[in-house]
Amino acid sequence: MATKLFIPGPTEVAPEVLAAMSGPMMGHRSKAASALQRRISNNLRRILLTEQEILLSTSSGTGLMEGAVRSCTAKRAAIFSVGAFGDKWYKIATGNGVPSDIFKSELGQPTTPEMVDAALSTGKYDTICITHNETSTGIQNPVEEIAEVLKKYPDVVWCMDAVSSAAGSRIETDKLGVDVLVTSTQKALALPPGMAVCTLSQKAYERTASVPNRGCYFDLRSIYDTIQKKDYQYTNTPCISIMYAMDLQLQRIMQEGVENRFARHEAMAEFVRSWADEYFSVFANRDHLSCTLTVISNTRDIDIASLNNSLIERGMQLGNGYGDLKNKTFRIAHMGELTMNDMRSITSSIVDILKLK
Ligand SMILES: *Cc1c(COP(=O)(O)O)cnc(C)c1O
Repeated sequence: MATKLFIPGPTEVAPEVLAAMSGPMMGHRSKAASALQRRISNNLRRILLTEQEILLSTSSGTGLMEGAVRSCTAKRAAIFSVGAFGDKWYKIATGNGVPSDIFKSELGQPTTPEMVDAALSTGKYDTICITHNETSTGIQNPVEEIAEVLKKYPDVVWCMDAVSSAAGSRIETDKLGVDVLVTSTQKALALPPGMAVCTLSQKAYERTASVPNRGCYFDLRSIYDTIQKKDYQYTNTPCISIMYAMDLQLQRIMQEGVENRFARHEAMAEFVRSWADEYFSVFANRDHLSCTLTVISNTRDIDIASLNNSLIERGMQLGNGYGDLKNKTFRIAHMGELTMNDMRSITSSIVDILKLK
């Protein structure tokens, strides 16, 4: 029996989308490749609420996080971390020799607009990196309020990790003024892992010109220039198979309706939060909860691995806590293909297995 995934990636992929991957190869310099890639970008713009250019990368999301901080930082990056994935962005920056500082919040707490203002008021930074949705703690950062602060700093390039929320949460990329929004295929987009997506604003593009060492594979400027010059064909050979799947999945998302999709995620999130309140407790600050996954404190000190084994026998799998939060928390993802029925099914199974009252 296949196990239905309630882990925060990879997520469930619809059978017809998986089947689309078995289509025949095409030349990546063909007219058909241009048409496919242009169609994908146009549909992604509607989901990411942007008019900016879309860049695709054959890598996981981390690749474009690297591309973003490295290609856009001419001076110094301020990296705001609310958990494991923010820490990772700092590691990426230092590993690439990009001058940067990290500003950490306590686990379960957001990055505040005050923190961003305090850092930027020093005048030391020309780039900020913010996690939209921290998959280790279940925090969704107050990006609207952060956007207000950023209006005071028009020259700062804003990079945002929306790997585990884009296409599930409503993110107003352009209205907020996000310059580079990064996501991956295997989370709320509900595709197999293997490709990453980012937006690139004109401001970010112009910035890249003043960064001498942008690397090669993840150089956002060179990717952008190539797709302009070659009608949406990429610098290197992309994963054509995932593009077939993406093309179909984006059409399925359009059929559902982008707003309906966001509302479905919100409804699942509300359901899981109130279930967690009844039997355990929600880990993160209540005012800043993720719409695509809920991190639940293990207040009953249950054996999470053994719970998961029992769930797997019933054809479901949840996520243990991430990193330091392993066994102290567990995670139920409510993103991508999952529905309210799936939420009822996993929560009632947990109640049944643990004989919760
Ligand atoms: C999964 C995840 C990543 C890493 O993405 P990959 O596609 O695995 O490289 C980065 N940030 C967040 C918030 C994530 O959830």
